[in-house]
Amino acid sequence: MAQKTIAIVGGGFAGVACGRRLRKLMTPAQARIVVFSEENYMVFQPLLAEVAGSSILPEAAATPLRVAMPGVECRREKVADIDLPASELIYEVYDGSKQRLKYDHIIIACGSGVNLTAVPGMADHAMPFRNVADAVALRAQISQQLEQAAVTADAAKRKFFLTFAVIGGGFSGVEVAGEINDLLQAAGRYYPTINPNESQVILIHSRNQLLPEVSSNLRDFTKRKMEEAGVLIVLEKRVKLVTGEGVTLSDGTQFRAATVIGTTGTGPHPFVERLQAVKDKGRIKTTPEMRVEGYPNAWAIGDCALIINGFDTQPSPPTGQFAERQGKQCAANIVAVLSGKPTRPFYFKPLGMLCAIGGHNAVAEMLGFKLSGFFAWWLWRSIYLMKVPSLSRKVKVAMDWSWELLFSRDITGLKIDTANRIQDAYFASGTYVFKQGDPAADFYVIETGQVEIMREIEAGKGQETVAVLGPGDFFGEMALVQDRPRNASVRARTDVEVTVIGKGMFARMSKILAPLSQQIHAAIRKRTMLRQELPKSSAILKQMLMSDLMESLPSQPLSEACTFAAVVGQFEKERVDFFCVVDGKARLTGVLTRSDLLRSLEQLAGMSDEKRDKLVVGDIMTRNPLWITLDDSPLMVAEMMRERSLKRLPIVYSATDLRIAGCVRLEVLMAVVMRRLGPSI
Ligand SMILES: Cc1cc2nc3c(=O)[nH]c(=O)nc-3n(C[C@H](O)[C@H](O)[C@H](O)COP(=O)(O)OP(=O)(O)OC[C@H]3O[C@@H](n4cnc5c(N)ncnc54)[C@H](O)[C@@H]3O)c2cc1C
Repeated sequence: MAQKTIAIVGGGFAGVACGRRLRKLMTPAQARIVVFSEENYMVFQPLLAEVAGSSILPEAAATPLRVAMPGVECRREKVADIDLPASELIYEVYDGSKQRLKYDHIIIACGSGVNLTAVPGMADHAMPFRNVADAVALRAQISQQLEQAAVTADAAKRKFFLTFAVIGGGFSGVEVAGEINDLLQAAGRYYPTINPNESQVILIHSRNQLLPEVSSNLRDFTKRKMEEAGVLIVLEKRVKLVTGEGVTLSDGTQFRAATVIGTTGTGPHPFVERLQAVKDKGRIKTTPEMRVEGYPNAWAIGDCALIINGFDTQPSPPTGQFAERQGKQCAANIVAVLSGKPTRPFYFKPLGMLCAIGGHNAVAEMLGFKLSGFFAWWLWRSIYLMKVPSLSRKVKVAMDWSWELLFSRDITGLKIDTANRIQDAYFASGTYVFKQGDPAADFYVIETGQVEIMREIEAGKGQETVAVLGPGDFFGEMALVQDRPRNASVRARTDVEVTVIGKGMFARMSKILAPLSQQIHAAIRKRTMLRQELPKSSAILKQMLMSDLMESLPSQPLSEACTFAAVVGQFEKERVDFFCVVDGKARLTGVLTRSDLLRSLEQLAGMSDEKRDKLVVGDIMTRNPLWITLDDSPLMVAEMMRERSLKRLPIVYSATDLRIAGCVRLEVLMAVVMRRLGPSI
C-alpha cells in the first residue's frame, strides 16, 4: 500500500487520541500522520481549576504534543480552511502566507468556539476560562486582588476587590468557584489585614440546581457543601449585564465584584462556521461512523461534531471523555477503510461523571455508584492522574498535589502588565468609568454611545455635568499627562463601548505619534478654557434652561430607507446643512450632513447602476450622532459646541427617550448671551 497522508485539525482530547491510535495501528511507511494545532501542547481542561486555585503549576495541565504523540508530525500552524471536494487543507505558515496540503483522509477535531456576546459586557469584563492562559491570568488576578485588599483602608473597596462572581454552575463553574474559595481561605493566614468574612465567591446559575449532568441528590450535596464552605449560590437567575463594577441579574439584583469569571458562552468554532458541511446548531453533522456527511474521506470528532452515540441513540455530550473515545474509534475506522474492512458506528457506554467542588470534596457517579465527599475527591484525583497523557506530566501533577498536602498553597502572583494593554470595555448606562479622585491608569476612546464628564460642585454638594462626549472622542488623558488623580468623574450616559489604552501604551503612542499628542494637548487646553476665560457668559448660561434656547428642527427628519436620489433633492429644496434621521418610532438614529453626502459621491463612482439605485440614507449617514437632552446645562452645551466647532445640535427628550424635541443653534445661543450681557460688551 502506498503511503497515505492523514491530516488531523486540532491537538485536543479528540485529535491526540486519534493521532496516537493511528500511529499504533499504522507504520510510518503506511501513513504520514500530520496534526495541526494552534498550540504545541494539549490542554487537560479538567485540571484548569486547580491551576487557577494554585493547587498545581500551569505546565502540569499542558502536555507537549510531540511528547503525547511520538511518531506523529506535529505542526503548530493554524488551519484556515478545508477544501473538502478537492481533499486539500489550507494552513497559515508563521510568516502569514497560506499553503495547501493534499490529504487522503482528514479528521476535524478543532473543539468548540467561544461566544460571549449573549450577555452585554461579558466579552469585555468577564475573564474566560477555557485554556491554560485563562487559568494563569485568573490566578494572577486573585493574587492581585488579595494584595490590593490587604493595603486598602476603605472597607467597601476591600469587599469589592475580594468578591469573585462565577457565571455558570456547570462542571467548570463549580470547580473554579470551589478552587477560588479554597485559595482565598488558604491565603488568609498570610494577609492579617483582611478579615476572612470580607471575601466572597458567588456562583450564579440560571437553572434551579447546579451540575445538571449529575443526579438530584448529588446536586443537593454539592450546593450544601459549597454553602457550608462560604460560597454564595444564586440559582434560577440569569446574568443580564457585566461591567467593570460587577454583574446585574435578570431580577435587577447587583453584585459588586472586581472579578467576574465566565464559564458559559460556548459557541460554534469560527472555522467550522466557514466549512461547507452540513451542521446542526454549529456542530458538524456526521454519519454514525463519524464521517462528515457527503465526504467519505473526511471525519469529524470531539466538541465540534454532532455524533449520535449507538449506546443510547443520543447526541454525544461535549466532554473530554467522549472526545477521547471518538478519537480512538475514528482511527480504527480509518484503518478499516484503508484495508477494505467494514467500519463501526460510534458506541460508548459512559463511565460516569466526576466533579471536584472544593474543600477536598467531590461528587461522582461511576458505573452506577453515587459517591460524594472526601472519597469521591480522592477518586477524582486518582482517575484524572491516570488520564493525564504523559508520564512526566503525571509525575508533575502528583508532586504538586503532594506539595499541597504538606505545605500551604502557593500565593505567588505573577504580575500581569495592564499598563501596556489595549482592550475593549463596555459600560452600561448610568455606571461609572472612573470617579473623581481615582488614580489615573487608562486612556479611553469612545466607539459607540455617550459619556458625561461630571465634577463635584463643592465637597458634598453633588456633581454637575460639564461635558458630554460621543463616538470618536477620547477622555482620561488629563490625569495621565499631568500625572495626578482624576479631577472629574466619567459616567456612561447611554450604553457605551470604549477602547481602553493602558498608561504605558498611551505614553508610548502619544510620544511617537505627533498628531495624537497635538490633539491631546489641544483638547486639554480647550476643556479648561471657557469657564475661566469667560466667567460672565458662563454665569449667564448657567442660569438658563435648554428650553430657553430650543428651536424646532429646520426640516422634517428623514427615514433610513429614504433613497440617495430623493435625499439630494431634499438638500437642494430645503437649503439646510443637515438632516436628522429617525427610526420607525421617531427616535434619532443618525444625522446626514453635507459632508456625508460628499463622501458618498466618492463611493458612488465605483458602484454599479444597480447598487447605486439601492443606496439609502442608512448606508451613508453618521450613526450614533451627538445629541443633548432638555435637562442638560446650556453652559455645558456651549462648551461642547465650541470645542467641536458645531453649529447645531439635536435635542432629545432624555437619554432613554431619543425622540427629537428640537435643536439648538450656535447663533441663537450667542445672541441670547449677548442680549443678557447688555451693551457693555
Ligand atoms: C474548564 C473546563 C473544564 C472541563 N472539565 C471536564 C471534565 O472534568 N471532564 C470532561 O470530560 N470534560 C471536561 N471539559 C470538556 C472537555 O475539555 C472538552 O469536551 C474537550 O476538550 C473536547 O475535546 P476536543 O478535542 O474536541 O477539543 P479541544 O480539547 O478544545 O481541542 C481543540 C484543539 O483544536 C485546536 N484548533 C482549533 N482551531 C484550530 C485551527 N483552525 N487550526 C489548528 N488547530 C486548531 C486547538 O488549538 C485545540 O488544540 C472541560 C472543559 C473546560 C473548558
